[in-house]
Amino acid sequence: MKKIPIRMCLACRKHFPKKDLIRIVKNKENQIFADKTFKAEGRGAYVCNNNVCLANLKKTHKLNKYFKCEISAELYENLKGEI
Ligand SMILES: [Zn+2]
Repeated sequence: MKKIPIRMCLACRKHFPKKDLIRIVKNKENQIFADKTFKAEGRGAYVCNNNVCLANLKKTHKLNKYFKCEISAELYENLKGEI
């Protein structure tokens, strides 16, 4: 049986199969973006594929802490587009 990779949502801290989450990546050029392919190089964060967790993530600034930099409003808009 193939093992399903499990990742934690940064907002609700629950664990889900990777495929059910949205991956956010910060690459070497310090670009932060939604990684639809799950294959982009860099440090990855995961969030549930729903508005509740996304709003929570924005409100608590957890991504800022996780990536140690400012997260643009544009990124959140992009993430919303992924839902
Ligand atoms: Zn969540």
